[in-house]
Amino acid sequence: MGYAHRVDGERKIHLKDFDPHGHADVGREEAEEKTARLCEEMTELQEMLYAASQHSVLIVLQGRDTSGKDGTIRKVTGPLNAQGCGVSSFKVPTSEELAHDFLWRVHAKAPARGQIRIFNRSHYEDVLVVRVHQLVPEKAWRARYDHINRFEELLTDSGAIILKFYLHISRKEQEQRLLEREQDPTKSWKLSTSDWQEREYWGAYTEAYEDAISRCSTSHAPWHIVPADRKWFRNLAVAETIVEALRPCKKGWLAHLEEIGRREKAAIAELRRNHASAPPHP
Ligand code: ADP
Repeated sequence: MGYAHRVDGERKIHLKDFDPHGHADVGREEAEEKTARLCEEMTELQEMLYAASQHSVLIVLQGRDTSGKDGTIRKVTGPLNAQGCGVSSFKVPTSEELAHDFLWRVHAKAPARGQIRIFNRSHYEDVLVVRVHQLVPEKAWRARYDHINRFEELLTDSGAIILKFYLHISRKEQEQRLLEREQDPTKSWKLSTSDWQEREYWGAYTEAYEDAISRCSTSHAPWHIVPADRKWFRNLAVAETIVEALRPCKKGWLAHLEEIGRREKAAIAELRRNHASAPPHP
């Protein structure tokens, strides 16, 4: 079993059954070494993904404020080649976005084949914050779970590998991180009264996350619950999950690249033959 808890197949999960502080008996030093090795393997896999261009990778990061979405992007996917990787952050929708269906802005950011795209927040906000704050009628957000499943199926049918992570932090750890932010001038830009206000809805968010994870975990687009109170363990769990999802594709990518190589070498040989038998230039 991996360090993250994979949920696939529709079943009701309860977040209280997952320990946010868990670290699977791995120590910090060991975790950091393993993460570094995994990140190296990830960059090698990315090169093959890019060259073969048969699949795309969509990494969805969700979690409460301070759960470490930014940190995960920096530490785990930071070493990736920027040419084949991008981040899309989903904030409060603009009026133009609101005038479309909720997946419109999301679909536009889905990765092309060969590319890795990280979603910092995602279409899941439309069944999380939108549900908690009743931004649309219940009937509308309830219909969205099925829309999301069909949308993700469309992406995977088109070659996407989808990995969804819920960064699971405890209420206590969140409080500590918010207080720490106030002491660190380099983090002042992150300070916001809304973080404290959203804490008041902890229970409502728990219910919304439980439903989103339970209703939208499929074999093609599983959710992974990541213990995130310890940043170094969170990084290890995410890195491991990504690498383990990509590794099985490596053989197919290599075979495809070899085939391309054979075809191109034959074309070059043909070109040389034609060149050799052609009369010299006047
Ligand atoms: P972050 O907290 O991700 O670092 P911000 O402080 O800009 O970045 O927060 C983005 C905000 O946008 C979050 O409060 C999030 O809930 C909100 N948001 C994202 N998507 C939607 C949506 N579809 N409807 C309403 N609010 C949304």
